[in-house]
Amino acid sequence: MKKCLNCGAENKNENLFCSSCGNKEFTEPNDLPVQPQPTVQMNEPAAAPPPMPQPQFPPIPRKPFGVFDLLTILGFVSSIVGLFCSWVVLEPLAIVSSLIGFIKGTRSKGLAAAGIVIAVIAFIIRLFLSLYDNNVIGKWAVEGIFR
Ligand SMILES: [Zn+2]
Repeated sequence: MKKCLNCGAENKNENLFCSSCGNKEFTEPNDLPVQPQPTVQMNEPAAAPPPMPQPQFPPIPRKPFGVFDLLTILGFVSSIVGLFCSWVVLEPLAIVSSLIGFIKGTRSKGLAAAGIVIAVIAFIIRLFLSLYDNNVIGKWAVEGIFR
């Protein structure tokens, strides 16, 4: 129940206006638990919020340098060396080695891809030049591209 501030009549809590005089100002309902107002001490500086705990980033584990990464390096080196000698052996070796390194390796994917591209191109060029040198294919096959 709450009391009208104007005439003092008891009103139901849900009444918007006093049932006796029509006033709309009431005392606080007395059958509701009084919420204790937290006392704010203005003269005391507000305590600084506790510093945010720095998120702990676990060190990114370096992926182990595996045998397939060795194949990547082997393939890349082979693709380069094969440009100058023993291309028949080295370029296919470079292609296979780089391919395995690219698929299975955990690092240096770019190097593996480079090894594949270099080895494939070098192999095709050398193959066509070799076929031309041995008169297997005509000059038209290599003309303007490689010579
Ligand atoms: Zn009233």
